[in-house]
Amino acid sequence: MRKLETKTIVVASHNAGKIREIQELIGPLGFTAKSAAELNFVEPDETGTSFEENATIKAVASANAAGMPALSDDSGLVVDALDGDPGVYTANWAETPSGTRDFDMAMAKVEKALQDAGATTPEQRTARFVSVLCLAWPDGHTELFRGEVEGSVVWPPRGGQGFGYDPVFQPEGYGVTFGEMSGEEKHGWSVGKPQALSHRARAFKLFVETCLEA
Ligand code: IMP
Repeated sequence: MRKLETKTIVVASHNAGKIREIQELIGPLGFTAKSAAELNFVEPDETGTSFEENATIKAVASANAAGMPALSDDSGLVVDALDGDPGVYTANWAETPSGTRDFDMAMAKVEKALQDAGATTPEQRTARFVSVLCLAWPDGHTELFRGEVEGSVVWPPRGGQGFGYDPVFQPEGYGVTFGEMSGEEKHGWSVGKPQALSHRARAFKLFVETCLEA
C-alpha cells in the first residue's frame, strides 16, 4: 500500500455532484484539488464491466494528463430485484437521445422495472449504493477502495438535496432518503464523530486509513 505524499491532487471526475462530495471529503484534510472538468481533461470512455475497472480508467487518465496523483470515483445503484441493475450502468440509464442526463427519467425507469418485477414491499426493493475510489499516480501505480451502503428504493422520490438517484434511496435504519439529507448527514459526519454512512464516505475512510494515516 503506497502512501500519498502530496496534498495537491486531481479529482478525476466530470460529474458535478461527485466533485462536490469529494471536495467536501478531502477539503477538511487540507487538500487542494482541481477536477478533471475544470482542467478540461477529455472524459475517458468507461469501457470496463466493473466499478473497479471504470474507476481505474478514470484515475489513470487524469493522473497521466496532470502529471500528479488523481482520485476517481465509479459508483452506482445495485438493485437486488433487478439482478443488480442498473449497477455499473447507473449513469447510462439517465442518458437521453440528445446526450444529456435526466435523473427524473432514470429514477422512473428503475421504478417501472421494480413494478414490472412485482417488487412492492420494502423487503422486495432492497438495494445498495456502491462507490469505488481509485487513487492513481503518474507512474501507473493504483490503489482501490470500495464502499457500500445498504438500503431500499422508495417511490415517489423525496428530497431536493444531493444528486443523481439520491431522492429514491433510503439507507437502512433511516426514515429519510439521501435526497432529504444534508451533505454532512449523507457522509455521516453530522454527529461530530465521523461514522461514514454513504458509500462514497465509506470508501473515502478506507482511502484515508490506507494512504494518509501513518
Ligand atoms: P459513473 O460512476 O460515472 O458511472 O456514474 C455513476 C452514477 O451513479 C451517477 O451518475 C449517479 O447518477 C449515480 N450515483 C453514484 N453515486 C450516487 C450518489 O451518491 N447519489 C446518487 N446517485 C449516485
